[in-house]
Amino acid sequence: MPQLRKDPLSERWVIFAEGREERPNEFERVERRRPDARCPFCAGHEADTPPQLARYGRVDGTDGEGGAGWLVRVVPNKYPALLAHGRAEPDAHGLYVACDAVGAHEVIVESPRHVSSLTQLTPAEVQWLMVAYTDRLRALPRVSGCKYALAFKNVGPEAGASIEHAHSQIVGTTMVPSEVARELTASRRLLRQLRQCFFCRVVEDELTHGARLAAISDRFVAVCPYASRMPYEVWVLPREHASHFEQQEPEALEELAGFLQRVIARLEARHPQLAYNYFLHTAPFDTARLRHYHWHIEIFPRLTTTAGFEWGAGYYINPVPPEQAAANLRW
Ligand SMILES: [Zn+2]
Ligand SMILES: [Zn+2]
Ligand SMILES: [Zn+2]
Repeated sequence: MPQLRKDPLSERWVIFAEGREERPNEFERVERRRPDARCPFCAGHEADTPPQLARYGRVDGTDGEGGAGWLVRVVPNKYPALLAHGRAEPDAHGLYVACDAVGAHEVIVESPRHVSSLTQLTPAEVQWLMVAYTDRLRALPRVSGCKYALAFKNVGPEAGASIEHAHSQIVGTTMVPSEVARELTASRRLLRQLRQCFFCRVVEDELTHGARLAAISDRFVAVCPYASRMPYEVWVLPREHASHFEQQEPEALEELAGFLQRVIARLEARHPQLAYNYFLHTAPFDTARLRHYHWHIEIFPRLTTTAGFEWGAGYYINPVPPEQAAANLRW
């Protein structure tokens, strides 16, 4: 029997209909990298990107492929998305609202080597990547007056990546993005209801019964959420309550680097060549520590496509229950 589940945070409904992934499919998808593609992120091609904003790793030229002198570098996006907003003004007819795009759109190149997934990074590269996330989250409100910055990663063409070389992006906006605003509102309500942070409760719960627990370390857990929108959706959360990602201690970041790699490696072991997205949800810069909000990384493996029913109804159809996904990831 298909089951409907409601996500307490987004109040979105998800339909769990097992067996749908066995439906016959007449289509075949073949995506290949163009043979003439020149990678702007490889060592030696630094001049192909706008001037760098930051770089990490030893700068004496002894690290990186061919002595690139960097392991991770941050550059402005050459083709920024217009996701950031200035002051919204209605037009003369009072029908549409538009505004000038301001803010920041940066790219974090994760390795001087041409690799594509987070799991192919060296421990040092992925640790610097975590440091780069925190640094940019601290720097963005100062450089551009942003209120929020969303760090995310696209791996594989099905996940929207246009460049194969491992990279993350960070978009600074002068408004809190609607997904995050929704989570902030819902988690404030849930704090009153549960007398506890919703995310802390989820962590506690999963550590008690373990039904949706995919992985665990000293400071972090990976959980397949109760109303997962996608098969094998995984959330990584700190076990201790923390609202702002950029306030994590260096030792925690180091542990997170290894943990995130381990979780994605388990996903890739089940689904080789997996395309995926992840994004970091953290509290807005200008807030003090929040009791109701808890930063987390949401990982979305791209195993299914969003079709007419999802777009039209706003419900997701997920063929794999999170309990089964978590059990498969735990081994
Ligand atoms: Zn490359
Ligand atoms: Zn919490
Ligand atoms: Zn979230």
